[in-house]
Amino acid sequence: MSVRIKGSNAYGHLGWITKYCRICNRKLKVGIDVVYKCPKCEKVYNAYFCEADARGLHHKCPYCGTELVPVA
Ligand SMILES: [Zn+2]
Ligand SMILES: [Zn+2]
Repeated sequence: MSVRIKGSNAYGHLGWITKYCRICNRKLKVGIDVVYKCPKCEKVYNAYFCEADARGLHHKCPYCGTELVPVA
């Protein structure tokens, strides 16, 4: 497991929102990693995707075909 810590831990108290890529199960930290989601399936399927898999899916949700959007 690789953990990337950027400089100080000033934001540590907020805790990172962590998602797991639906395809490769990679741990994604919102705000640090590029994370894509399907706005329709995020609640139902936890439809979050890493950048590489989002590209592999041509930024289309594998469940409903909706365009994936980056998680801010
Ligand atoms: Zn992935
Ligand atoms: Zn979807």
